Amino acid sequence: MIDTKFDIAYAAGRFDLSLNILDGNPHLFNLMGMDSYYSLYKMLSDDEQKKVAAAAAKCLETPELQCDECVHITVNDKLCCYILTMTLSHEGDAYDIQLVNMTNTENRVNELNRRIITAREYIAMTGAAVFAYYPDTQRFYLYYVNQQQNITIFDQNFEEWITQMLGENRIPEEDMEAFHAFCSTLRSGKSSQDYTFHGCIISDANMLERYRVSFKPKTYENGDSVVIGTWSIIHESTGDINTAILEESYVDSLTGLLNKKSIIKYAEEALQGKNREHVALAIIDIDDFKSVNDNFGHMFGDKVIKAVAGVIKNAIGTNGVAGRIGGDEFFIVFEKFSDELEFRNVLRCIKTNVAIQYQDQMERKLSCSIGLARYGIGPFSTTYHDLFKIADRSLYLAKVKGKNRYIIYKPELHGDFNVQNDEDIINVSNTFYSETDINALHNMLTDLIVYGVDSIPEILDFFAHVLTINRVSVFLSDSGAPAYTNTLPADVPMADPSVLKNIKYLYLFTNNLLAVSNLQSLEFSSPEVHKLLSETGVACYMQYILRDREGEAVGLISADVFDRSSAFPKIALTLFDDMCRVMNGVFLRDNLI
Ligand code: GH3
Ligand code: MG
Repeated sequence: MIDTKFDIAYAAGRFDLSLNILDGNPHLFNLMGMDSYYSLYKMLSDDEQKKVAAAAAKCLETPELQCDECVHITVNDKLCCYILTMTLSHEGDAYDIQLVNMTNTENRVNELNRRIITAREYIAMTGAAVFAYYPDTQRFYLYYVNQQQNITIFDQNFEEWITQMLGENRIPEEDMEAFHAFCSTLRSGKSSQDYTFHGCIISDANMLERYRVSFKPKTYENGDSVVIGTWSIIHESTGDINTAILEESYVDSLTGLLNKKSIIKYAEEALQGKNREHVALAIIDIDDFKSVNDNFGHMFGDKVIKAVAGVIKNAIGTNGVAGRIGGDEFFIVFEKFSDELEFRNVLRCIKTNVAIQYQDQMERKLSCSIGLARYGIGPFSTTYHDLFKIADRSLYLAKVKGKNRYIIYKPELHGDFNVQNDEDIINVSNTFYSETDINALHNMLTDLIVYGVDSIPEILDFFAHVLTINRVSVFLSDSGAPAYTNTLPADVPMADPSVLKNIKYLYLFTNNLLAVSNLQSLEFSSPEVHKLLSETGVACYMQYILRDREGEAVGLISADVFDRSSAFPKIALTLFDDMCRVMNGVFLRDNLI
């Protein structure tokens, strides 16, 4: 009864319509005990008995149907997970049942994965590229094997590839004969001697290299055939294989992750492949990395970069591929997940493990910010260019919201990032507030003019949400509690309007507006204000002076941020200015100031 096609042994047997055993392989008897009138039900919990009874009823009703159920069976005092597969026998008077122990299967898969990884390591160590030619389809696939992934150098029709190589003059005239000999033997599907020729094929289209290729045909059990081969770059003088060139071309030497060029190519290919609906791109940037370099030196900084790369590699496992795209910036191409929870788990794992790197050597914990964009989530989210921008803007948002966090982009939560706009990330801060949000805020201000001040708390809440501001307070005098604020958590201290009494401070305003991106800048110009605000924990803020009809400063609107020091983008200042001007007008009209 054992199916010899698989070397994973599993239990299989035939059961009568009441699920008593009729016949079985030794694995089944082993599992059930040697009792020959044993009921399958006896092995299962009440819940699972019901599940299996329902499956049996379904099979009886639809004879060709195969039902799979997950059940738990105790073996040697350990609860094991089995997949139970059930079909009605041809005669219709019994069930054929298989029980595959998933623990064994999982172990087996892990073992096979380990072997694959080891094999990849061996190939990577040879420093050779490898290729495959499929005679049936004439597809030619030349790639470099890194520990975790294949990096495609060429993947195209063989005849087209030859035409391209010749058209781009990648083979010198004197080696043309050897190149053609290689091509025609490969095409014929015969085993080769080694072929040696020069060309500009592998590492850089402008660099002449000397190659040695060898290959052999292979036929699989199902009759499919392929020619597989190795493609080495050899030292001109010694004839030895140069094992470093490929690695230098595709791998970031500090971290061992893919370099920028390769990971981008990888992402582009993944987004054109069959599996593109599962692709997501994440950008990770270490927070305040400059201060790591400043405090501990560049060499230590390098160690930190390496450690973070290790964390990323471990966290993604075989679910994606990672590269380094800048000094402290990494990039992940995810290819296997379909559920947001799976992304969250990996990103949380990265965030947590980054925090423990070198924690005893640094007084502040290391942290990173992450932006992630998924294929098909949001408008314009299918090309590499658009997805990269969404991930980049999500990263920006993570930084603005106070760093040490990840943001998985969702249009309903973060608005339209307007990625079709081709401006740089430098200006993204201006475009990153969604147009929908900006319009909504303007509509609210129009309502304020028409219907009066009751909607102010709602406007302040929305303003704070759109601009990621922690506290917005409106004071209608120079002392006391604010007349209006956004909804504040209980532990946020109140702002203080007494700054209005400080004439020197008021000089810092231009057209009633002041934006302070870093509180430290006030330390000398307005030490009292600096002291006052730093006591309440403000890190950066925007303020607007409300004036009465005579132009006297009578009130203040203050938008305060506690968790970051950052410059306010121009659009934020404009929105704040718009809001405050309208409010000032309405307060005057309604005689509130
Ligand atoms: P933020 O939280 O906004 O990301 O601030 P940051 O200080 O991390 O700033 P940013 O990411 O812009 O700066 C990255 C710094 O990384 C700039 C550069 O001095 C440093 N850097 C770039 N390449 C390397 C490298 O190979 N080794 C080391 N040690 N430092 C590098
Ligand atoms: Mg950084």
